[in-house]
Amino acid sequence: MIYFDNAASSKICDEAMEEFQRVGQVVYGNPHAKSKMGMMAEEEVKRSIEILARGLKCNEDELVITSCATESNNMFLRGVVKRYKRKGNHIITQKSEHSAVKSVAKQLENEGVEVTYLDVDEKGVISIQQLKESLKENTILVSIMHVNNETGAIMPIEEIVSEVKKYNKEILVHVDGVQSFGKLDVNFRKLNIDGYSFTGHKIHAPKGVGGLIIKDGVKVESLIYGGNHQNGRRAGTVNVSGVASLAKAFETWEKNKDEYTVKVGEVKKELLKLLDELDGVVVNGNLENSSNYLLNLSFEHIRGEVLLHGLSELEIYVSTGTSCNSTGTGMLTTYGYSKERILGSVRFGLSRYNTVEEARETVEEIKKLVGTLRKFKKR
Ligand code: PLP
Repeated sequence: MIYFDNAASSKICDEAMEEFQRVGQVVYGNPHAKSKMGMMAEEEVKRSIEILARGLKCNEDELVITSCATESNNMFLRGVVKRYKRKGNHIITQKSEHSAVKSVAKQLENEGVEVTYLDVDEKGVISIQQLKESLKENTILVSIMHVNNETGAIMPIEEIVSEVKKYNKEILVHVDGVQSFGKLDVNFRKLNIDGYSFTGHKIHAPKGVGGLIIKDGVKVESLIYGGNHQNGRRAGTVNVSGVASLAKAFETWEKNKDEYTVKVGEVKKELLKLLDELDGVVVNGNLENSSNYLLNLSFEHIRGEVLLHGLSELEIYVSTGTSCNSTGTGMLTTYGYSKERILGSVRFGLSRYNTVEEARETVEEIKKLVGTLRKFKKR
């Protein structure tokens, strides 16, 4: 089996699995209880938050543990709009965001919030000029993803923040960091942003745990009401074994990140051989400023979906993501590509568990499948 769908979800690493089991079976008290077992569980949460905060360069009390990045994004966007509505009613995001931001923006629009969706170019990057022109007196929030989940395109976050804060330093900047967390070095303080969302299951931690950094001083209205957990910011018992294993997965990446980056880069390079060895293959997004963990290619005269199923039969797993569905609509339309290019797209989501040999085998199988499919097409 060859798994190239890690941007969708990833295998739990041994380190995180052991931690999940240890905490779940030994330290299973309620972290909000006053008993010794409760305190032990609370210690696990604190320790995990310490690891994450140290790595992401934020204060421990700026971190809220959530169930996933979708929740984190909802919490920041909705929470900020609710809290700062007297200051303004306009937010800015961009067209290639994951639905975990875009749908929230659409919903806010239905509720009367004014939303500007910035364009992206064919490389998947927003125009700083358009951002500058979109900032208004009543803008309260700008939310832009760090790394695109379909193509790996990296957004110029520093430049975005600099322009936004130059215009008005009170405008908040939120970053959906799902595809940068545990893959790129992220320095929350240095980025000078106000919110950062992340999730565990893309970095070899379990599903069902994520986080949101909320800059000190920024007030976010709570989404969920209940007990006074996490200083009243998010009610509900913290997923203790989840956050412990998330911290472990993150720590494991931190210790080995140089090695992992090189390894994943070599696998990507091997997959890119398809460009040289097969006619009619193009890169979606860009190769100059993109994540090593993602590669999106379009195959001329081929439907990505058909290729996906053909590979799946061979136990090689890729995806067409949300970029491609039967109507050829989806995220890649925002890059201005033709319908054929969008329908022919395939996403490779890499991880440190992939090998160059796997990439070679995948390239071979794709060449065979594409050859057969194109022959069919000609008949
Ligand atoms: N944002 C981006 C960029 C993503 O890639 C994903 C998942 O694919 C999400 C948000 C949603 O994350 P979660 O599954 O933790 O809700």
